[in-house]
Amino acid sequence: MIDSAALDRADPLTGLRERFVPAPGVTAYLDGNSLGRPLTASVERVETFLREQWATRLIRGWDEGWLDLPVRIGDELGRVALGAASGQTVIGDSTTVLLYKVIRAALELRPAEGRAPRDEIVIDRDDFPTDRYLVESIAAERGLTVRWIEEGDVTPDRVAAVVGPRTAVVVLSAIAYRSGFLADVPAITGLVHDAGALMLWDLCHSAGVLPHSLDAWGVDFAVGCSYKYLNGGPGAPAFAYVRAGLQSEFRQPIAGWLGSATPFEMVQGYRPGPGMRRVLSGTPPILAMVGLQDTLALIDEAGIDAVRAKSVALTEHAIALADDLLPDAVLATPRDAARRGSHVTLDHPAFEAIMPRLWDRGVIPDFRRPSGIRLGLSPLSTSFAELELGVRAIAEELAREAAA
Ligand SMILES: *Cc1c(COP(=O)(O)O)cnc(C)c1O
Repeated sequence: MIDSAALDRADPLTGLRERFVPAPGVTAYLDGNSLGRPLTASVERVETFLREQWATRLIRGWDEGWLDLPVRIGDELGRVALGAASGQTVIGDSTTVLLYKVIRAALELRPAEGRAPRDEIVIDRDDFPTDRYLVESIAAERGLTVRWIEEGDVTPDRVAAVVGPRTAVVVLSAIAYRSGFLADVPAITGLVHDAGALMLWDLCHSAGVLPHSLDAWGVDFAVGCSYKYLNGGPGAPAFAYVRAGLQSEFRQPIAGWLGSATPFEMVQGYRPGPGMRRVLSGTPPILAMVGLQDTLALIDEAGIDAVRAKSVALTEHAIALADDLLPDAVLATPRDAARRGSHVTLDHPAFEAIMPRLWDRGVIPDFRRPSGIRLGLSPLSTSFAELELGVRAIAEELAREAAA
């Protein structure tokens, strides 16, 4: 078997792990795809913000930079991790709320040409629950039809089979939250456009672990989390990307004063603000977004291509370890690295039973029904040795469970 310590020694990003706050008692943190770890710099930044910004600048802080943070951090995220030129990314509400706003706005933008109405929204049956629930409720609200990709990974063929002249918008995750399957984002975006529809990508599991070229791929919209691989902290707000060419017509349904053209003039009648400001609604969650800046700086320092290279090496190692140590578990994640995100999912009927014992031991993956353990591998903070320790603990607990 491959030597984990040797992989760590050869890893150019290995030194960056020391920038994260230690977690006493945690021997293998394998859930960075669900909640990333804090950087020491983020803890210091948040504390400084509380003491020096909030406490002493008080209301003046809004004019001294807070109001610009959603677009400033958004631009930085776009540059460092999304392949997005400035002016197209903003930090806003939760992923759920931003998805709602962007899907509703996309429906208003749907091309009106042709005789048949564009009255269908396409989504994958296995997409994350919030995405599915939103699409179903928006369809009910607007009298539209949901067209499901019923089974299997989201491949260009499966998408092509359900999009057509009635498709208004297609909503898909770049990386499947359960299996870790990585969709062919540029190919699918292209075929959705060929059908005359708009494309919204959910980047919750891809932002911060692999390079994106949203501008070059012609993606219309994207939304994603900042508390997963971007280590923004629990409840850190999500981001939205709207392609520059669509912004002037973009109208989202939660018209609030801070998304308006002149918030402080308190005028009658809502007029949408300039550029990405119109995606916002109310007072931005500043306290919850400041910490995100340190991970963006770290990704910039490491380079997103190096982050992806380590992510591939980690998932490769996870699969090799599972093949060796967990022969009865079934790999739910693609073996082809080009189609794989940064987590590896294994299924075994006894996984649910052993989860509490793993957590007690300080080995922290997560569990997804019916029988999947997800090993979330966050390239900036996860080591190869930590991963091996985690997989060995799973093997030991499985053996103990079988003997009981
Ligand atoms: C994590 C995740 C979400 C979470 O949405 P919140 O509004 O932040 O709770 C949504 N979609 C996908 C695909 C996710 O992975």
